[in-house]
Amino acid sequence: MNLTLKNLYDDFRDPKTIRALAELIHQESEGLERPVNIMEVCGGHTHTIMKYGLKQLLPEKIRFIHGPGCPVCIMPKERIDHAYILARQPDVILVTLGDMIKVPGSRGSLQQARSEGADVRFVYSPLDALKIARENPGKSVIFFAIGFETTTPMTAALIRRAEDLGVKNLLYHINHVTVPEVMRELIDSRDEHIDSYNNRIDAFIGPSHVSVIAGAKIYREFPERYGRPVVVSGFEPVDVMEGVLMLVRQFTQGRRELEIQYKRSVTMEGNLAAQRQIDEVFEKRGLFKWRGLGNIPHSALKLLEAYAHLDAEKVYAEILPVEEIEDHKLCICGDILRGMAEPTECQVFGTACTPSKPLGSCMVSSEGACAAYYKYGDLLK
Ligand code: SF4
Ligand code: SF4
Repeated sequence: MNLTLKNLYDDFRDPKTIRALAELIHQESEGLERPVNIMEVCGGHTHTIMKYGLKQLLPEKIRFIHGPGCPVCIMPKERIDHAYILARQPDVILVTLGDMIKVPGSRGSLQQARSEGADVRFVYSPLDALKIARENPGKSVIFFAIGFETTTPMTAALIRRAEDLGVKNLLYHINHVTVPEVMRELIDSRDEHIDSYNNRIDAFIGPSHVSVIAGAKIYREFPERYGRPVVVSGFEPVDVMEGVLMLVRQFTQGRRELEIQYKRSVTMEGNLAAQRQIDEVFEKRGLFKWRGLGNIPHSALKLLEAYAHLDAEKVYAEILPVEEIEDHKLCICGDILRGMAEPTECQVFGTACTPSKPLGSCMVSSEGACAAYYKYGDLLK
């Protein structure tokens, strides 16, 4: 038999296995003393849950809360405006990942900037920015970098590679964010305002790709300090269901631990070489604003001082506004990202706001919760 990609993931999408796991979750949850709210931090997990109808397979006692895990959804308008303004500078080529194309800032999206004559290029890999810079020595090429721990090493590799090759016309606007800080903020802010088991985050499903790089260790504080178990899970439906079963078992057995479901690629320590690469060029920011969530301490990275001359935020500081910008009045992305509302509770969901005409960021990104509900919501009926 020829081994194809489909052969590799078929078993992890097998309906019989998914149903068997659902049955085990039902049996195990009979021993629960109260309902358990599980936040899946990452939009990739939200999509799997919606696409495969996993919500409908779970007992009433188990509830998913969709978390803020999409770097596009949480990018505040101010920073999208930065990209828009930079792209419109003469002699600038703005390079970014395709996910950013339609995200609306207060001045427009990068797609609009391009239709107005700006040179905006969408790439699949950060290293493509290097090729563009070398092909255009007379231009300043600015790489608008986004992503969680998963993509940060690629930006770090780009910076080091450009340095090694002596490429001087490649600058960076860094928007890399980190997951544990926002999880901490979500627990603290919800526990402060809501003293109800219905709204409490009891446990987390952690994204596996983040931990392939950063290791599962980044979640240790959640069981140890907050009493919230974490299971780092893969993105296929069987992975998610097994992750849920592992969490339910922890509750019925009175355990609060950090466990790895996605042992296929995740270890406690992660990829130490990639972590070193990140530390060689980045350090933590004091504060970073997350769209809908506000300023969260140490939740993002910036370039080390040694790279200040390549930092587009510093080089172009005079033209980049710093004022905060409100989101659209009707958009409740903030509540959705906090896990306090579902997309269907937004009064313009699917009417004034659709993926082709998004009002808020959760509808723009293919990983956003509103986009997932729009695409797969019929399955819930
Ligand atoms: S880009 Fe998608 S898969 Fe990656 S962290 Fe964000 S939501 Fe998850
Ligand atoms: S449906 Fe649109 S306006 Fe409503 S919360 Fe989602 S993104 Fe915002």
